[in-house]
Amino acid sequence: MTGVQPRPNLAKIPLYRAGKPTERDEFKLSSNENPFNPLPGVIEAATRELDRINRYPDAGLTRLYSALSAELELPAEQLVAGTGSASVLYTLLASFAGPGDEVIFAWRSFEAYPIAVDVSAATAVPVPLRADGSHDLVAMADALTERTKVVLVCTPNNPTGPVVRQAEWDDFIVKIPADVLVVIDEAYVEFIRDDQAISGLTELERHANVVVLRTFSKAYGLAGLRVGYAVGLAELIGAVRGAVPPFSVTDVAQAAAVASLQRKNELAERVDFVVSERERVTAGLAELGWQIPASQSNFVWLPTGADSLALAASQAPLSVRPFDGDGVRVTIGTAAANQQFLERIATWEPPVPS
Ligand SMILES: *Cc1c(COP(=O)(O)O)cnc(C)c1O
Repeated sequence: MTGVQPRPNLAKIPLYRAGKPTERDEFKLSSNENPFNPLPGVIEAATRELDRINRYPDAGLTRLYSALSAELELPAEQLVAGTGSASVLYTLLASFAGPGDEVIFAWRSFEAYPIAVDVSAATAVPVPLRADGSHDLVAMADALTERTKVVLVCTPNNPTGPVVRQAEWDDFIVKIPADVLVVIDEAYVEFIRDDQAISGLTELERHANVVVLRTFSKAYGLAGLRVGYAVGLAELIGAVRGAVPPFSVTDVAQAAAVASLQRKNELAERVDFVVSERERVTAGLAELGWQIPASQSNFVWLPTGADSLALAASQAPLSVRPFDGDGVRVTIGTAAANQQFLERIATWEPPVPS
């Protein structure tokens, strides 16, 4: 027994459930990872840094910030990187919200949101998605109070897939007070093909209270190295830079991210492949009678309700991601894995209620 107690905001923290590992990596469709090896030259660039791992990394992240600054065409002062964008989000929330403050987000959305809000000791205000799996931006604006400090917008939404579109965003953002931070989480931005989808970087130029989150974990295939970043006004980003734990991004990760940014053509080919497979899987599911949300991401969402666990179990040896009582998220993988999923799901029959 100990008399030491964690802070009360940590008592009810939800568990983050990672996708299950599988016998063959190719069968893991549960964590929205990229099915391919890192882009050409990336492993070599990362390996070169291994000789120096007795040294702390470059704390200023000069190479990464300069490469991203060129890529995104904005000053390096507007960038802050961390150990994955999830960790940048934790720091963002800790920097802008605390006890007594409210943080609005759509639900269901990224699992880390309610956890990150609890860690910051602010109050989570989840707002249900619309029936088609998209954000209900009208209801989210209605949820604003004087205590609202941050609104999280996930586009495309994980785990359901739809994007936020320009017209509804324009109606929404004018209702948000200038002192409320709006975080646009674009973890899957590379996979968007809907021309009405908002662009975080464009909205950032228009609205001084918008910050965009990006990651190297999904399209770039560097989930294991943990590099993500936020983009925003230098004065907001400066506060976050000050709060990020020192040396969050290793030189190995930095070199891999920089080398990945140099492989635009190969990246585009891989992303195009995932998008075409997403369309093939979506069409296959439609043929089987599934009505699923329009995904602009590297996964599809099966709205199963109570059958989520049974459906996920029926897909073995494929690992897919059930959200209990809600649905199942299936990551787009290799052509063979996607084909296997389509074959298995074709024979799925919901359990008979007892
Ligand atoms: C995967 C994901 C992230 C972050 O991933 P990191 O690996 O921490 O960069 C952030 N937001 C959403 C919505 C995601 O799905």
